[in-house]
Amino acid sequence: MARLALARGCCQKPVNAMIPVGMSEYSIGVDLGGTNLRAAAIDRSGKMLDKISGSTKFEEGRDAVLSDIVSAISALRERCGEAALAGIGVGVPGFIRIREGFITGSNNLPYLENFPVRDEISRRLGARVILENDANAAALGEKWIGAGQDVDDLVLLTLGTGIGGGIISCGRILRGAVGMAGEFGHVTVVPNGNPCGCGNRGCLEKHASATAVTAMARLMQLGEELSARDVSELARQDTKEGEKAREIWRIVGESLGIALATAINTFNFPLYLLSGGMLPAWEFFAPEMMRTVERRSFTYRATKTETRIAKATLGNEAGLYGAAYLPWAG
Ligand SMILES: [Zn+2]
Repeated sequence: MARLALARGCCQKPVNAMIPVGMSEYSIGVDLGGTNLRAAAIDRSGKMLDKISGSTKFEEGRDAVLSDIVSAISALRERCGEAALAGIGVGVPGFIRIREGFITGSNNLPYLENFPVRDEISRRLGARVILENDANAAALGEKWIGAGQDVDDLVLLTLGTGIGGGIISCGRILRGAVGMAGEFGHVTVVPNGNPCGCGNRGCLEKHASATAVTAMARLMQLGEELSARDVSELARQDTKEGEKAREIWRIVGESLGIALATAINTFNFPLYLLSGGMLPAWEFFAPEMMRTVERRSFTYRATKTETRIAKATLGNEAGLYGAAYLPWAG
């Protein structure tokens, strides 16, 4: 087969210097969640070429999960061709030790805790793998082809059962010394607030995640196991229950506002994105969130026209796109 040498800048790594004519370079991204495993082959323009989804079999242990990840990547590599593969990125929940390729402190992935996940996947595939925190990957995805395309600096908060965070600075993931930067879910928003599994009290995710909404609904005797969506529906009602539900969203909004005001004062970035399953309740929490940001952040008041707080646009695909972009991100 005829081959074409790609022209590359001096700062780019020669990941795959030769690719077949007519075939565009692509990368494989994996998003490993608490219940789902998704993998996709995505080309340099952001076009998804192929995708595999399945559930994660944590109850079957570490080897089963690793085998599923490796099989998904192998299947995509086979289907899309090895010659044009630029690299492999894997996004996982939990704290990451980036140099060692370890996951640490992940409630969802106890089997992968303090185990050389990256090197083991890499060994089984015979290819280099980049491991990254899932929220960091999602932030990179939004920067690449989502709501953050037109900026180089942004913060993303992922609002789900927990709260993750990712920081993009100068177009790159801000990882910190070992890879644990951006953990906004564990920023204190209520001194001596609800205890958190991380050892702190009053963490953002204890007051503004979907889990926190369910817990508040229980405490306010609205129901035992109401989802964030249920509490959104209740908030539409002009009843006593509706008022309680709206109070829950005010608490969520204030907590997010405190965290965002702190982030804005710290970074002076142009964009702060929110994503995740809580977004359908935006109309209920955003007003209090914006009032709190306005009240607590001088930087926000001074830079209002240059500072946006907005919804992310890639939904739950952001982590997949971001993971795929990792080999190109450097
Ligand atoms: Zn915490």
